[in-house]
Amino acid sequence: MKKVIVFFFLVFIAANVHGQNPIKDSATIKRISNHVLTNAHCYEDLRYLCKQIGNRISGSAQAEKAVYWAKKTLEEAGCDRVYLEEVMVPHWVRGEEEASYIINGRKIPMLVSSLGNAVGTGNNGVEAELLMVNNMDELERLSDAEVKGKIVFFNHRFDQTNVNTFSSYGPCVYYRWAAPSKAAKKGAVAAIVRSVSSADDDKPHTGSMSYDAKYQKIAAIAIGNKTADLLEKEIGRQESVKAYIRTTCQMLPDVKSYNVIGEIKGTEYPKEIIAFGGHLDSWDIGEGAHDDGAGVVEAIDVLRTFKQLNIKPKRTIRAVLWMNEENGLRGAKEYARQTKLKNENHILAIESDAGGATPYGFGLIMSPEKKKKVQSWSQLFYPYNIYNFSQEHGGADVNPLKRDFETPVMGLMPDSHRYFDMHHSANDVFENVHRRELAMGTIAITMMVYLVSFYGL
Ligand SMILES: [Zn+2]
Repeated sequence: MKKVIVFFFLVFIAANVHGQNPIKDSATIKRISNHVLTNAHCYEDLRYLCKQIGNRISGSAQAEKAVYWAKKTLEEAGCDRVYLEEVMVPHWVRGEEEASYIINGRKIPMLVSSLGNAVGTGNNGVEAELLMVNNMDELERLSDAEVKGKIVFFNHRFDQTNVNTFSSYGPCVYYRWAAPSKAAKKGAVAAIVRSVSSADDDKPHTGSMSYDAKYQKIAAIAIGNKTADLLEKEIGRQESVKAYIRTTCQMLPDVKSYNVIGEIKGTEYPKEIIAFGGHLDSWDIGEGAHDDGAGVVEAIDVLRTFKQLNIKPKRTIRAVLWMNEENGLRGAKEYARQTKLKNENHILAIESDAGGATPYGFGLIMSPEKKKKVQSWSQLFYPYNIYNFSQEHGGADVNPLKRDFETPVMGLMPDSHRYFDMHHSANDVFENVHRRELAMGTIAITMMVYLVSFYGL
């Protein structure tokens, strides 16, 4: 018996010597979890952000309101320092509500949403014959004469077979991002894209698109899955189906905006920074609740939790609320530029930009040694059903840090089954975020930040 006790004592000492003390840490982590599940303010913060401020596309009055709300909220959370980082952002506006219908003997109205950064059709709108392609190869095989003067409908479906729906996002986004110019190259007059959506409903999902400067800029809209199904059916049945589209969206001059940053100084290694956060801007439909209100309020709550539990991090922990992730990434680029100017050292950057559902892991992009170190903590996360540390995933806002400084990055991975039902659509509202699930996101990030702040990376 004595031998057994001595053995465990030695294990305990060894663990401490290596800077790992699972017994102490699991108790602190449980304290963090209990506190967040009972006292967290992230859900109420999200309610305010979604309901009192609303959606907040870069350059809008709501985005500006969100900046000052976030600054005040970080100050009230008890940060050592809160500051704004100026950045000029694009200001795209949707204009009047879009008008669109199919002309097929009769007029069938379509629910549509202009793609972000797109140009409008002009006041009179565009009316032309529809040409459906299921993928880019089909378009490439057509002659210019076959495409010229038509509205091209890209009928590329969201792949429902992936369990992690983010795997379906990338291939679809290619169509949203690049398809309009591919159609314009062959003389099309407008483009319609089946929404990047996993939902069996008719909500159009907007999102960024980009023009190839070599070709005419044509109007580009998304339609919901139901309307896309209808178009597919009608076009398959008839010789000629026409559509009418009228959009008045446009890009206005850049507007001054800000990243919002709050931090608690490290007690032993203040120059080693752990950044974590999400993006403050959102699309201009819905409320930007999952994308990315969740990431914003989690980050604020991480700092609040450290303060309320009087946990003093050894390294500096910093919440960064980036501006303009959705249609320009200017905030993230400026943050990286400032990092260089100030000669700051980020030992880790974590992004939460995959929604406010139950987290199950972190994606890791870093050296094998650092991965090993993070994975050695995994048993501390298991009691919270956070178990996956094997994927490579970061986030758009932390990417410039990774690219410019080889900063190790992580992305929080929440359950993704419902995310693309809502993403960039009118479905992305506060009511679709669950209080406990969101709190689990705060817990996961707080745990990770806590461990890295004490043990480094
Ligand atoms: Zn996002």
